[in-house]
Amino acid sequence: MTEVSVAKEDVAATGDLVVLKSVNKHFGALHVLQDIDLTIARGEVVVVIGPSGSGKSTLCRTINRLETIDSGSITIDGKPLPHEGKELARLRADVGMVFQSFNLFAHKTVLENVTLGQVKVRKKDKKTAEERARALLDRVGVAAQAEKYPAQLSGGQQQRVAIARALAMEPKVMLFDEPTSALDPEMINEVLEVMQQLARDGMTMIVVTHEMGFARSAANRVVFMADGRIVEQATPDQFFSNPRSDRAKDFLSKIL
Ligand code: ADP
Ligand code: MG
Repeated sequence: MTEVSVAKEDVAATGDLVVLKSVNKHFGALHVLQDIDLTIARGEVVVVIGPSGSGKSTLCRTINRLETIDSGSITIDGKPLPHEGKELARLRADVGMVFQSFNLFAHKTVLENVTLGQVKVRKKDKKTAEERARALLDRVGVAAQAEKYPAQLSGGQQQRVAIARALAMEPKVMLFDEPTSALDPEMINEVLEVMQQLARDGMTMIVVTHEMGFARSAANRVVFMADGRIVEQATPDQFFSNPRSDRAKDFLSKIL
């Protein structure tokens, strides 16, 4: 019996981590996600691009159940998304999310921001949580800011704290929704570098971004969305050098 369960875990450890099947979502009359089929393998880095309003943020938000879906299914690590309560808090820990607007707790220090969820959701003792928080703050290059409040940090520093906070929860997958769009230009690279390193370390990542340099160097796959649909998926090389759809060609001609 033990052997069987070990074998099963081996299969899970190499398989698909995030699976969306025929996902549909409406906002009133707007069909914002249309028959989305998307499978993300463990360790894969997928960059999602597409025009404003195409449904990229909504897609991310459905994956950690900040939005519900109308039909279809989403599984993380083989399990359907929970609806409420502790299960939902655990899902949100498993699926780390980094937003354009940082979303740190303004009245908590940087260290507290990165410690809280570990204690509340992951049930770590405070000392263990703080040690992990300090190690992660060091990893993203803001260890010296640990006792400060978010407003005392630059945007780039705040976003790196937000990444550390998500990582502290030991997520299975990280979602980034335009993590550098609100940053001053000189701070974009410090955040992208942290994300590059995370990708090299093998984290499964879904990244909505207009940073095509990041897409080219870090992504295993580019997913192009328009009008609530996945129009095209390809390797970055294929996508940027030879986009197949007119929508993608048009989009690339405007941004490159
Ligand atoms: P993207 O991130 O690609 O710019 P979004 O997922 O944010 O696109 O939005 C897709 C569409 O859904 C847009 O037309 C947007 O106005 C609409 N939308 C997003 N969130 C809501 C909401 N909570 N209620 C109504 N419409 C929404
Ligand atoms: Mg968006």
